[in-house]
Amino acid sequence: MHGLNLFLLAGVKKYMEFRLAVLLAVFAPAALEPALKPTIQYTLRVDSADLSGWDVEIRLRTVSDTFRLAMAAHPEYDDRYWRYVRGFSVEPSGATVTRVDSAVWEVVAPRGAVTIRYRIALPSPAPLPRASWRPFLTPTGGLLGGPHAFMYLIGAERLPATVTLDLPGGWAIATGLAPTSDPRTFTAANAAVLVDAPILTGRLRQWRFVAGGATHRVVYWPLPDATPFDTTAFVAGIERMVRQTVALFGRVPYHEYTFQFEDGAFSGGLEHRNSVTLGARSEELARDPNAVIQETAHEFVHTWNLMAIRPVEYHDIDYRTQPPVASLWFSEGLTMFYADLLLRRAGIPLHDSTRTAHLERLIGAYLANPAYPRFSREAISRVAYNSEPGALGDYSASTHLQGELTGAMLDLIIRDATHGQRSMDDVMRVLFDRSATRRIDGREIENAVEAVCGCDVTPFFDTYVRGAHVLDFDRYLGLIGLTTQITRGPALTNGEPERDLRLYGWEPEGEGDVRLMITNPASIWGRAGLHSRDRLVSMDGAAVTTWSDMRARLLRLRIGDTIRIAVQRPEGPFETSVIMTGFERPTVRIVLARNATEAQRQLAEAWRAGKP
Ligand SMILES: [Zn+2]
Repeated sequence: MHGLNLFLLAGVKKYMEFRLAVLLAVFAPAALEPALKPTIQYTLRVDSADLSGWDVEIRLRTVSDTFRLAMAAHPEYDDRYWRYVRGFSVEPSGATVTRVDSAVWEVVAPRGAVTIRYRIALPSPAPLPRASWRPFLTPTGGLLGGPHAFMYLIGAERLPATVTLDLPGGWAIATGLAPTSDPRTFTAANAAVLVDAPILTGRLRQWRFVAGGATHRVVYWPLPDATPFDTTAFVAGIERMVRQTVALFGRVPYHEYTFQFEDGAFSGGLEHRNSVTLGARSEELARDPNAVIQETAHEFVHTWNLMAIRPVEYHDIDYRTQPPVASLWFSEGLTMFYADLLLRRAGIPLHDSTRTAHLERLIGAYLANPAYPRFSREAISRVAYNSEPGALGDYSASTHLQGELTGAMLDLIIRDATHGQRSMDDVMRVLFDRSATRRIDGREIENAVEAVCGCDVTPFFDTYVRGAHVLDFDRYLGLIGLTTQITRGPALTNGEPERDLRLYGWEPEGEGDVRLMITNPASIWGRAGLHSRDRLVSMDGAAVTTWSDMRARLLRLRIGDTIRIAVQRPEGPFETSVIMTGFERPTVRIVLARNATEAQRQLAEAWRAGKP
């Protein structure tokens, strides 16, 4: 059982309390309700003399003597910060606190005003570059808030919250939380919005532009020794990308949007309703002001395709691990598809020089991996988040790659069925329009595609989305007069045969050993009888317990070398010898089909140009 049936009254601002007292004396309680705007008040305090964590205070007013507070689990990156909660205390004194779950605290306290205090003692910082969504504190700023800071009240998830930040002098604040007249105080419409909005603070550089009628803030937190870069070109690239994204979806699902870029964090990000945390190392931006534009575009498209166009499985807020999501192939894959396409429309140069080159590379990677004929899109989607490595056994698959190619083929089906009048762009707009009242799953996506193309895509969804089959690229490329030419040959890097390193190691937390992860059963490792999740005992007789040691030993191997590997399995020990070899990889070219019609040539031309 979760969620006590609480009736919470306000932790209201002082003038409200005064007003309440007056009203109480005059009116019956029922008449009060419209006058009350119950909120939960949070204060987050950072002491510049002690950057080992932050203190949180929660003030609320209860009419039940028992309530529960919980730390939310992020749907994709559950960092389990309940592990770092220290000094949980409650006022008035005499209240009792019981931890009823790793992430849930139960409080019994007299009804009325209650204050909860606790500290988040940050784990020791990982070496740079860090993950951009992880909180941190330094003398010049940090990343706070979100599920790493704020507990929510179970059963009162819909109550609005106010957040007051008590930060070291001179620290600016950039967050998706709604501003108030007090520059240190923000509001959130409910608990889900509160924990969704990280707070970047410190010595920030900021730029603004308006697109789609909304202000977009670009915020950069530099390391003290940051490399100077061309900030005008950096912001201009983002603005061009934003304008193309807004043009695609037609309108924005936020009042204001904040890009939170962090120096010292690797290029990668985490999307939110109206903000994004992104790694952007200044030395990389100095080499190329568009160095992180692809990642930026990806996370920005997620504002629509994941945060607004929301999978049916997602809970808005929950302290338990979120359930597997079957439609991530769409949420991730179409986001990949549009990150690429929108940057081309914005005229920003990309690593794959053309759409054709991009598709050739993706199809090559897809055909090289035996996981795709074996697992459906929905099966691969379900293990993309919150599952341990090895969930697909000796296979490894990317829901991003598989989903992007699936979306690309659906786009061709639509272009063909509508004689070039419509495209996947229209599907995205249909889903966005419907997102106010509906969430997506495979059927909902299928319905949207059919509404746009006026065609029957159920066989496609049965075969490729719910079923496991290799995409028939020539069939769909043929609709616009194109065809593939596939050659197989030795995998080469800089003209040299590439070694078969299609495995990696994974260190389960707290177990002090390393597990093998075989990514392709046809690799030399799979053929030697090794399996994912085998516990590595030794390599050439030397005990190996870390991935870095395992990796170093693998990288020393040259073609023709032999290595002895001993592993432990539940059923007993296993030992084998592996000879390092190269391996084969397909190369894909996309060319005009000999029998292409003039109409198909025109469709191909529009597709190459990235036209809507
Ligand atoms: Zn993504």
